[in-house]
Amino acid sequence: MQLDAKIPGGPIAEKWDRHKFELKLVNPANKRKYEIIVVGTGLAGGSASAALAELGYEVKTFCIQDSPRRAHSIAAQGGINAAKNYPNDGDSIWRLFYDTVKGGDFRAREANVYRLAQISNSIIDHCVAQGIPFARDYGGLLANRSFGGAQVSRTFYARGQTGQQLLLGAYSALSRQVAVGKVRLLPRREMLDLVVVNGQARGIIVRNLIDGKIERHVADAVILCTGGYGNVFFLSTNAMASNVTASFRAHKQGALFANPCFTQIHPTCIPVHGTYQSKLTLMSESLRNDGRVWVPKDPSDRRPPTQIPEADRHYYLEEKYPSFGNLVPRDVASRSAKEQCDMGKGVGDTGLAVYLDFANAIERDGRSVIEKKYGNLFQMYEKITGENPYKTPMMIYPAVHYTMGGLWVDYNLMGTIDGLFVLGEANFSDHGANRLGASALMQGLADGYFIIPYTIGGYLAGADLPKISTDHSAFQESEKEVQSRIKTLLSINGKRTVDDIHKELGMVMWDYCGMSRNNEGLEKARNRIQELRAEFWENIILPGSDKDFNQSLERAGRVADFLEFAELMILDALARQESCGGHFNEAFQTEDNEARRDDENYCHVAAWEYTGDIAEPKFHKEPLAFENVELTQRSYK
Ligand SMILES: Cc1cc2nc3c(=O)[nH]c(=O)nc-3n(C[C@H](O)[C@H](O)[C@H](O)COP(=O)(O)OP(=O)(O)OC[C@H]3O[C@@H](n4cnc5c(N)ncnc54)[C@H](O)[C@@H]3O)c2cc1C
Repeated sequence: MQLDAKIPGGPIAEKWDRHKFELKLVNPANKRKYEIIVVGTGLAGGSASAALAELGYEVKTFCIQDSPRRAHSIAAQGGINAAKNYPNDGDSIWRLFYDTVKGGDFRAREANVYRLAQISNSIIDHCVAQGIPFARDYGGLLANRSFGGAQVSRTFYARGQTGQQLLLGAYSALSRQVAVGKVRLLPRREMLDLVVVNGQARGIIVRNLIDGKIERHVADAVILCTGGYGNVFFLSTNAMASNVTASFRAHKQGALFANPCFTQIHPTCIPVHGTYQSKLTLMSESLRNDGRVWVPKDPSDRRPPTQIPEADRHYYLEEKYPSFGNLVPRDVASRSAKEQCDMGKGVGDTGLAVYLDFANAIERDGRSVIEKKYGNLFQMYEKITGENPYKTPMMIYPAVHYTMGGLWVDYNLMGTIDGLFVLGEANFSDHGANRLGASALMQGLADGYFIIPYTIGGYLAGADLPKISTDHSAFQESEKEVQSRIKTLLSINGKRTVDDIHKELGMVMWDYCGMSRNNEGLEKARNRIQELRAEFWENIILPGSDKDFNQSLERAGRVADFLEFAELMILDALARQESCGGHFNEAFQTEDNEARRDDENYCHVAAWEYTGDIAEPKFHKEPLAFENVELTQRSYK
């Protein structure tokens, strides 16, 4: 298989305009003849469904939750980037493009990232028109704050609830289309397979999560907006239902999976505090605008933080990275926190935490200013830890947060199966080996509101799409397979719970494929994952039946996929013998312990093809050409 990213020719700033002009159009009167399936109702799926229905397509939208509003996107806290340059501090489309490519450690496709930066400004206009209550300055203009990896303030925000407000906007637009009959909303459905007919994505198989019925849905194109796979680590900041199932089933039907080992570990999360925990909580990166990160200079210093004087504190980020200070990108900040804890300077009961301190900011700006900016985050922290962050520093530690890897897509956001489009966190497209803060919301909405409405038309107008129904043999076979897998899961009747196996898988992944990796550990993890997978299929116990609401069964299906997918992550990490962004192989580091890339051999996207044997996927390479940005050692000093 030859990977063709279909990057348009011409200067980078003109590629998208030119491409939009060259794409074939579907006549307005013909759009209603096309049915499109959208799986997922987060920012990517919600915006895509609304935008496509508004254009006149017939859309069917699916999600796991009872309401589209409960998609994981609702949890996004800190903000969304755009190159508006409202603060007049030197931002531009080019700078956002450059920061994003550099932030991703030069492992993203230039043309996609440039387009993202171009579209970013339209997203803000669109969302303001929808009534999103972005924060404003005293004069009424939209306010901005800073996020990691940038020296300008370009992040638009609605306190610490930006995702929620943006999702309400997308949901309103979606609801309008539901009301006019252009979107059929099917909540409480889990996609369990992609149906491919003659090489084209033509439908999906879903399980109705309330009554257990298996349903077939046919369409002319399928759009996956099913989010990231961070929950392979069991503990993550992702919503409990986030999973890899839809992407992985599509992968098994022929969609290549790109850069699966690129995971983002976010530096500021509430540390793990017990063995029965099932979820980790993010403390938004926006907090690093005002919070200062430090540890005691002396590892044996056990005094409470408020009693440790300035002279005995080590503000390690400010010291090591004077230009960016506490706002270095996430991969750099996470590794630095780990480094301090590995040196024994970690704080709290476990020694796996560092301080994030607002005392200076409160003294400088006053408590009410800090409360206005971060009030809900402080409240959340206090609720979970019982400590008041206005009075004592927060304790934070890195945690799994986002996945840069995803299904491979070309410039049109189409995967390696014709008619299968992938948007938002589910694709691999724009963030390289490390995503900058506030760029995921930007990408999800760029994909859904502004890219797919053009590119899907280009596909539909040029594709030969014979009429088929759900009686087609491909639907029958797919449904049979889904049914038999469910029966097998319920028949195992062993002794170990699914969660217990998932927890162990998560620990293996965190220890060996987490913040830092080495070949020996990766090999060890691979063996253990294979053993766990075998044990899963012999020894899990599932209560209930497949005929009604059964969350244990839902989880079992997702964990079964995680157990296969985890091996792909390991193989991908082993195949990339360099360090870049979130993929830090200990054997490849600079003298300053920064990631050392190998541009000669690894300046590519690794895309994996399923061969029928999970242990032997086929490797494909999309070389990355940098024509507008010079490849340099990333420095934030
Ligand atoms: C705590 C937290 C805070 C964050 N804060 C920010 C921030 O401030 N700024 C920023 O840019 N990014 C932030 N992010 C990242 C950002 O929120 C996500 O990357 C983004 O919201 C993903 O959107 P999405 O539409 O791609 O997927 P999601 O919002 O994850 O939606 C996935 C959808 O797919 C559906 N789905 C999944 N699998 C199936 C299936 N098999 N069948 C049917 N439906 C399925 C789900 O039901 C859901 O509707 C944050 C992430 C976290 C965890």
